[in-house]
Parts: sequence; structure tokens; C-alpha cells
Amino acid sequence: MQRFRPATALAALFLSIPALLPAKTPLPAVAHGIRVRNMDPSVKPGDNFFLYANGAWIARTKIPADRASVGVFTALLDQSRKNVAAVVKEAAQAHAPAGSSQRKVADLYGSYMDEKTVDSLGLKPLQPQLAKVGAIRDKRQLAAMMGSMLRADVDPLNNTNFHTMHLFGLWTSPGFRNSASYAVYLLQGGLVLPSPDYYLSDAGHMEQIRKRYTAHIAAMLRLAGYTDPTVRAAKILALEQSIARVQESLADSEIIQKANNVWSLADFESKAPGLDWGAYFAGTGLAQQKDFYVWQPSAFTGESALVASVPLATWKDWLAFHLLEQYGPLLSQPFEQETFDFEGKVLAGVPQQEPRWKRAVDLVNAELGDDVGQLYAKKYFPPQAKAQAEDLVAHLIVTYHKRLEALTWLAPSTKAEALKKLDSLYVGIGYPEKWKDYSAYVVKPRDLFGNVWRAQLFEYRYNITRIGKPVDRHEWWMEPQTVNAVNLPLQNALNFPAAILQPPFFDAKAPAASNYGAIGTIIGHEISHTFDAEGSAFDAAGALRNWWTAADHEQFEQEAKALEEQYDAYEALPGEHVNGEQTIDENIADLGGVMASFEAYHDSLNGKAAPKIDGFDGDQQFFIAFGQNWGSKVRPAALRRQVLTDPHAPSQFRAAMVRNCDAWYEAFDVRPGEALYLPPDKRVRIW
Ligand SMILES: [Zn+2]
Repeated sequence: MQRFRPATALAALFLSIPALLPAKTPLPAVAHGIRVRNMDPSVKPGDNFFLYANGAWIARTKIPADRASVGVFTALLDQSRKNVAAVVKEAAQAHAPAGSSQRKVADLYGSYMDEKTVDSLGLKPLQPQLAKVGAIRDKRQLAAMMGSMLRADVDPLNNTNFHTMHLFGLWTSPGFRNSASYAVYLLQGGLVLPSPDYYLSDAGHMEQIRKRYTAHIAAMLRLAGYTDPTVRAAKILALEQSIARVQESLADSEIIQKANNVWSLADFESKAPGLDWGAYFAGTGLAQQKDFYVWQPSAFTGESALVASVPLATWKDWLAFHLLEQYGPLLSQPFEQETFDFEGKVLAGVPQQEPRWKRAVDLVNAELGDDVGQLYAKKYFPPQAKAQAEDLVAHLIVTYHKRLEALTWLAPSTKAEALKKLDSLYVGIGYPEKWKDYSAYVVKPRDLFGNVWRAQLFEYRYNITRIGKPVDRHEWWMEPQTVNAVNLPLQNALNFPAAILQPPFFDAKAPAASNYGAIGTIIGHEISHTFDAEGSAFDAAGALRNWWTAADHEQFEQEAKALEEQYDAYEALPGEHVNGEQTIDENIADLGGVMASFEAYHDSLNGKAAPKIDGFDGDQQFFIAFGQNWGSKVRPAALRRQVLTDPHAPSQFRAAMVRNCDAWYEAFDVRPGEALYLPPDKRVRIW
């Protein structure tokens, strides 16, 4: 589970890449350690720790027009993009031979930058696909076409991405029932809007979004030359509303045990009648596959029934519109603009599209991530940075070991398994040991749409050809240039990409207090996922196996419930509360991270006093650094989407996690009556 997901404007196209970024980074370059000038000393830490740590920065910072949010993460994303752009430039200047990585990187980037060709082509690149949709004569052909559109575009466990516009989404990963080889998972799909709430909620702002969305569907169809676009748009919306009704919620989708359903081809026909499954699987190229993990069985039953009951003409329009929506950003200016006006302006609240070169960088990261990553790591992540980060991780693991041993609520047998799991955890730092081989992926200059289409097919084939093969536990799920970190429960592994291992998160020249408060809590967060509701369902080998006693579960649930209630109470927008259930795993990870890192920090002092900085002692610096990890501003539309679709709570509430730490009360003399004050028996302690 990744720890942070920025609001995405063009999520539709670049599913794996983060938010739009502005030209100027508002966070100032600073001395090493906590950034005192970002704090607001007029706010009491016990009333609002987020504002105390970040208030001055928030007051002087404006969200750039081309971005949904701004903060520490986006500043580093900016840096990473600049670095990637430099790598791309070098690749272009190298004049490397056709088929080489450098040539591909340069050509892919160049094809996005070649606006003239893109504009002169208009709708042409997509026309063959639209013609195929137009030629569909019956539901059998419809099923085959839907099957041919299946892509590896979801990842429910590692990157927590549950959304696909296609009818279903594919993920390959170690199997729940046999983690030694790769299995295939299928997930619900079919919606353009971010979650079912957008289709079903009675709230006024949601009705407004649906109105804008219907107009947007019609506009895209009109641009593509379809007759009666308004009539078609209304039917497409109604169909998607029906899909939304049969989908499972995000909170339910996050419960692993509910996803552990193995279906054979015969099971699809008996348990989910409607869709012509034979034709569908023939279209996917998976007709020989014996079994599938079906993540949300009731959604498969419901969606399949809709394929039977809704008229063919409506499904064909739905397919055509989804093609336009997904690939609109790669077409000529009118399509691109219309897509941004809805996806960017309406859904994320971003007024302005960001510069083309940044989007080109995102594209290269998305489609040739490892090729770029290899060049990036060589240039920007020296061996000593890797060694220092490895050292920090080793300290955190030693501390977790101690804390697990000291826990009183876990049964001794469970504790022994937990320690075994911790001891066999694979921690990847900076970059992978092996790089992905893109030689089967063809990149052509001046063929933007074709390059993306082939990249998605390449990715899909890469995934389906490994089904049944032995698992590489050291496989990476994030690129080195990604500002994020991830826990991989089925591999019992963590990845910390190079791009997050830099200031302000990690700074070799900063005092230990701020490194432990910043990157230490992030490392602790990822380790904690090893033992949260999802992580604890997997054993040391990554197999889905219950190694907890009933009493362990009961105790865990009780504490988790208290944390859920704490987060349910937070109001992100008027009337829009954080969903404690949906965010529980991430919140537990934040809690575990801050607790363990605080202890690791104290151990690292070896009894010596920490140096004071601007009058703040070591413990204060630790907590301020943690609070400053979350310094950010988000547009309301993007915040709403986050509350509804993200397993992570909004930043301001992540900073408030400190209210569960006794040491924070001592560090800032927090007293009863202050807004964040919790009496000792209400403070949640899990790990
Ligand atoms: Zn996480």
C-alpha cells in the first residue's frame, strides 16, 4: 500500500502517475532540519498541530493554477520531473541507435511534444478503434471487444488503485493461495467518475458534477461526429449509474478476505450470467487460463447481468465514449481541451493545464519507467545515499523488533510469527536489482497514440505471460523517480524509491530528530503495513494465511475501532467527513510509524542530549518534522475526491496522529481543553 496519493487530474490516461505540478516550487530552500519559518507560533500545538507546524507556509503559499494541490510531496515531484527531463534531454542528444532504451525514451517524449502532428491528425489515430465498436452487431461481438480492451491497469494491494474505465481490470501478482507463483486477479470497472458516490449521491454538488459530466459526454461525442450526442450521453450516464449500483465500495474492496474468490471459466457462466464469457475471455487471450481471483464477485454478477439487459446500442456508445475519454488527452487540441475541462477543472478543481513538457515527462515515466529510472538512479542516487538510507531502515527494523517483543496483547505464537515476518522482510532502497526489459515495446517517432496504445498492450502481455511462473520477491512496484514508498504484502517486501530519499524527508546533514520525524516515520509507516489488517493476513512467505489467534484479532479490532472513530469525527469539507473505515489501514500505519520512529530516534541518541534548534529540543523537532511531512494545500474538488476515493486521510488529519503519542503531550505541554487533547485511556496504541 503506497503511503500517499496526490489528486490526479488526468487520472483517466496516466493511471500510475501523480498529480499535475506547477512551474514554481513554493517551498523555500532551507537549512537542514525542521523549517521554522513555515510554522505558525500563534497556533497552540495542542489545538491544531498541522497549522502549528505549517501555518506560515500555508498563509504565504498559493496553489498554482495548473495544480490540484501543493506541498512537500509536490515540491519533490517537481524536482523529480526536472531531473527526469534532464535525463530525457541527454537521451535525445545521445543519438542512440533505433531500438535502444535511450532512443525509445527520446522518441516517446518527442512524440508527445510534437503538438503539430498531434493536431494535424485530429481524431484519426482513434478512428480504427471507433470503427471496430461501430461494427459490433451482437452481444457476442460486444463481449469479444470488451475482452480485447482488458488491460493491466489496476493494483488493489500495492499501489491501491482500484479504478478502471474498462468493464474489468486485470492485475497479476503472487496468488493468495499460492504466493510462490503469479496468479491473475480481476477487478470491477466500467466507471469514468472516480467512485460510485459520484453517480449515486443526492448531495447538490454531486448532482452538479453529474450535470457537467453529461454535458462533457455529449461534447466528446459531438467532437467525434456522433449524431444525437445529448440523447446518447443521457443513456451512457444511466448505464454508468446502474454499474455504480452493483459495484462494491472502496472500504469493502479493501478487505482482503472478501477478495479471495477463485473462479473457473465455468464459474463465470454460472455465477455471473449475462456477458458471453467465452467470447470475452477469447478476446482477452486468457481462454486457456484455469482460474481467476475475482475481487468483487457481486459486482461481476451485477455488471454481467447489465451487459445482457441494457440495449446493445447503449453499450456501443459507452465503449466509444470510454475510448474517447481515455485517449482524448492524446488527440488534437479540441479533444484534449474538453478532456481537461472536465477531468482537470471539474473533478480536480484545477483551472489550468500544466505545461506540455511536464505531461510528456509523466508519459515517459508511465510507459518506460524503468528505462528512465535506470538513468535517473545512476545520475541522482549515489552509493553513499543508498548506504545511509539502508542504515536508517536497519535501525527502524531493530526498533520494531523490540516493540513487537514488548507487546503484551499478542499471543506468544503470533508474536513469533510476526518476528519471523519482520526478519524475512525484503527492503528495496533506491532502485531495483533488476530492470524491466522493454525490448518487445516498439516506440515510433510522431506516433503518440500508437506509442501509448502499444505501451498498454505491452504491459498487459508482460503481465499475462508471467501467470503461473515463479515469483520474484525482489520485484519492484515503483520507479526510482517516484516520490513515494510502498509495502508489498504478497512479497513481504518494501520499496523506498530514490526520489523520496532526499530533503526535506531525508537529509544527511540534518539532525537525527528531523530525519527520524520525517523519513523515519515514513519508513515506519511502511513497516507497519506488514502488520495491519491487510498485512497481518499474509505470512512471512507472503501467503494469505491467518496466523493470528481469535483473541489477537479481537484486541486489534478494538483498538482499530477506536482509531476509526477518531477519524470519522474529522470533517474535511462542510458535511464531508473522513471515512474512518476506508482509511483505517493507512492511519494505523501512520500511528505505527510515528511511535516506532520516535523510539528509534531515542535509541539513536545513545543517551546523549539532542542539539536544540531555534529553541526546540529534540523531541519537539521530531514531532514538528512529522507534522511538516504533511504540509500541503488542496483544492476543494480534489479534497472531496480524496475523501471519497483515497485510502489515505487528508494531510491535516494525518498530522494530527500525534495526539495518540504520550511523548507529544510532554513535548508541547498539551493540556485538557485543547482541541486535540485525548485523555490517556483514549489514546490509541497498536504497535
Ligand atoms: Zn500506506
